[in-house]
Amino acid sequence: MKFVDPTKPHRKSGGWGPPLALSRFPLRNHKPAARILLRRRPAAITLRGTMQADEPEFSGGQVLQLTGAAADAARQAYAPYSGFRVGAALLLENGAIVTGANVENASYGLTICAERSAVVRAVAEYGPQMRVRACAITNLNQAASPPCGACLQVLSEFMRPASRVIFLGVSGWEDYCFDEVLPHRFALRGEK
Ligand SMILES: [Zn+2]
Repeated sequence: MKFVDPTKPHRKSGGWGPPLALSRFPLRNHKPAARILLRRRPAAITLRGTMQADEPEFSGGQVLQLTGAAADAARQAYAPYSGFRVGAALLLENGAIVTGANVENASYGLTICAERSAVVRAVAEYGPQMRVRACAITNLNQAASPPCGACLQVLSEFMRPASRVIFLGVSGWEDYCFDEVLPHRFALRGEK
């Protein structure tokens, strides 16, 4: 595996990090909508997926603010091994937005995803009662990045069934209720 020094800009990618060809994800996932989104902030984005009727609608501005915050957070990722830079943004029920980025480790197994780093930061800033109304996830690699199972299980402690999960999918942004992406979370017997 080729290791990349994240502290130096790479000539081929024209910016920080490795060239896209070294991305862990194949370029066949390149989608025009995602490229446009990452190069400049769009005026609006289209969300695919399902939304629960009783969940208050987000305004287009709120969606853009949250996905934009996730993209900004991805630029802070520490990903010298995979070059896959992911950002997550949580909209808390108190209105605050808390972001996180993936932080890799030489052991690989100790790597923490952007979603979990955002949750840890949100608890540290707002305490254990904080609840997440929506979570947006994106990356700088023009690849789909739905939340992994580990992150969904961690998020399940703080998200309600109707909370929103918005992520960059194979064909653009996708938007689901939390119980659609994790219908059967693990819970200790007797809890909730
Ligand atoms: Zn994850």
